[in-house]
Amino acid sequence: MSAHDIKLFGDAVAASRLETRFGLVSAESLLRFAIRDLYPGRIALVSSFGADSVVLLHMISEIDKATPVVFVDSGQHFPETLAYRDALVERLGLTNIVNTTPDAATLAREDPENFLFASDPDRCCDIRKVVPLAEALDSYDAWITGRKGFQTADRARLPLFEAEGERVKVNPLVGWSAGDLLAYIKQHDLPPHPLVAKGFPSIGCLPCTSRVSPGEDPRSGRWRGKAKQECGIHGVTLDAGGNI
Ligand code: SF4
Repeated sequence: MSAHDIKLFGDAVAASRLETRFGLVSAESLLRFAIRDLYPGRIALVSSFGADSVVLLHMISEIDKATPVVFVDSGQHFPETLAYRDALVERLGLTNIVNTTPDAATLAREDPENFLFASDPDRCCDIRKVVPLAEALDSYDAWITGRKGFQTADRARLPLFEAEGERVKVNPLVGWSAGDLLAYIKQHDLPPHPLVAKGFPSIGCLPCTSRVSPGEDPRSGRWRGKAKQECGIHGVTLDAGGNI
């Protein structure tokens, strides 16, 4: 299924066709088919190098180590995340890491003190995450996300494939549980993000991520105390030239 098909049949129809076709396939098989057959050379994994990211990173390293991996370097990450990214890239032999960063002039104009997260987190996410990601994805027809259904009520309704304007989002782990992820990590002896053991089951930017107590929603440490639940990269149609 190509982007042309998506445009031809309409977003919802095309996405549901893909869903019907691959709904019972394993995450690894679905990824292999998406990378090699559905979107060869036109698909990227978007990874935060967060708590569970190693699962998809390992899967794509087994399929094709040159698969593009887009990392949005917001400029506000934990130092542990950047070190983990570098260590994982070396360990897995990934050869095509695309680090995308905010526009320097925009940061100088709108967030010169790196404190916009406190006064306007939506705008901060726009200029530090949404716009850089949109620019990085401009040359791809599809992207792979690591979202899981158990993370939030909204994510529980996610399909395997989503149409997003002219692009398709592939969500191979939507049906996975926290136990499935742990089992995969153990089976393949993969290194965890160092902050997980310190009480961070979901890891974003440093100023907007706090520890989570046992029994709390894993994402409750993100933007704690604010209504905000997502950074915006999944809530809009990504288009660097549009209103994002
Ligand atoms: S998560 Fe926080 S610091 Fe990071 S871009 Fe969003 S508002 Fe800014």
